[in-house]
Amino acid sequence: MFSHTATDPVRLTDATRSVFVELLVHGPLSRAEVARRLTLSPSALTKLTRPLIEAGYLLEATGEEGPATVGRPSQPLQVDASRMSFVGIKLTEDELFAVRTDLAATVHGETSRPLADHDIDHVLGRIVEAVEELTVPERPLSAVGISLAGTATPSDPVVHTSPFLGWSQLPLADLVERAVNVPTVLDNDVRALTAVQQWFGEGVGRSSFALVTVGAGLGCGLVIGDRLVTGRSGATGLVGHLQIDDRGPLCERGHRGCARAYASSPSIRRSIATTIDRPELTFDDCLALAADGHPVARRVLDEAGAALGQVVATVANITGPELVVLSGESVHMYDVCAEAFHTALAAHTHWTAGPVRVAVKPFAFNEWARGAAVTALQHLLLHR
Ligand SMILES: [Zn+2]
Repeated sequence: MFSHTATDPVRLTDATRSVFVELLVHGPLSRAEVARRLTLSPSALTKLTRPLIEAGYLLEATGEEGPATVGRPSQPLQVDASRMSFVGIKLTEDELFAVRTDLAATVHGETSRPLADHDIDHVLGRIVEAVEELTVPERPLSAVGISLAGTATPSDPVVHTSPFLGWSQLPLADLVERAVNVPTVLDNDVRALTAVQQWFGEGVGRSSFALVTVGAGLGCGLVIGDRLVTGRSGATGLVGHLQIDDRGPLCERGHRGCARAYASSPSIRRSIATTIDRPELTFDDCLALAADGHPVARRVLDEAGAALGQVVATVANITGPELVVLSGESVHMYDVCAEAFHTALAAHTHWTAGPVRVAVKPFAFNEWARGAAVTALQHLLLHR
């Protein structure tokens, strides 16, 4: 599975794979610690790590945590993150965003392209341009990941439904793989973000957690018992249209008072701009008005915070996560609706459950594309 970049390919057995992933997610670790975590004998661990060290995937760590003498058996091991490269691509309705990352999901380059239309040949052309721009000759790509809002999973090359792009049953992964000649995997964009948190963020060391995103819509990714939940054909975590109040505003699907009608950024902006007749207001203008105590903006943001709190409580009641991570491109709205959010969260959390732990994660737009790169990395390490 490492043969795409390795001059000296390493075949991974399940045991070697476990060691590599353990070090990638939790490293650097001493040999004794890796052996303890994976219940391996020291000699079995040496046998598993030797080919990875020889092929340059693992390094004997240097630095403060290591002992003074290099090469001693207690020298910590770590993954050489530069050993592999990935391109992650996020497709939106009108733009493509792409990043190149290493094995540790550190971004080393990024680019974007406008998508003038959704014709597959046009989109493929822009994908090929982005991949070519981000590829550096000395680091051939190991895999390409593509994420989009809609129904897709890494185990299937087909986009089943993509409402923004108007695609249905499109074998996108196969088309991209043929065009760029690099293994390509797809995933839903929120699940791809959850993969980043699972291996490189708030989810590290947690067996179960949920990611709830706010932005143009609401999304939810779940890790339960160390597994990223995909469900049947990838449709999971669909919290956007949960009903909050049957007398609330309408969403674009005709639901009265669903979560999206209260808490998505377009709904918040529209409610405030329409009510006070200021159509030029942006979403961030609306947040500023609420922060200044404008009564209409304040009311809309309080209702949005309460809707979001109810969604998080529902997710927590069903899945019992150790932590709920709140993120997405409009997560900064939390700053002006935190009180309403926590009041509703407490009110809707089941009385037998303890308080829900919430971590608010600031968001950068390239996180979406980074998520796609981590999807590609996870799929390559775990499934190929
Ligand atoms: Zn709805």
